[in-house]
Amino acid sequence: MKVKCPTCKKRVEYSSSNPHRPFCCERCRMIDLGEWADESYSIPLNVPNEHKLDDADGLESPLNRPFKTDYEN
Ligand SMILES: [Zn+2]
Repeated sequence: MKVKCPTCKKRVEYSSSNPHRPFCCERCRMIDLGEWADESYSIPLNVPNEHKLDDADGLESPLNRPFKTDYEN
């Protein structure tokens, strides 16, 4: 049985051989669940919290730097 992937509309096999059914792949599944967005680099909501943590000056996450720079511009 074939179904259309809800995210990219590609036709995929709806069977136990497809662990991401009804999606075609993990990526499409994550996009539909909104998890993809959570991992994107463009979430400004995270900035204030991470900025506070920065007071300790002990965190050197590579993700913090571009955020911080953009925010203080
Ligand atoms: Zn897809």
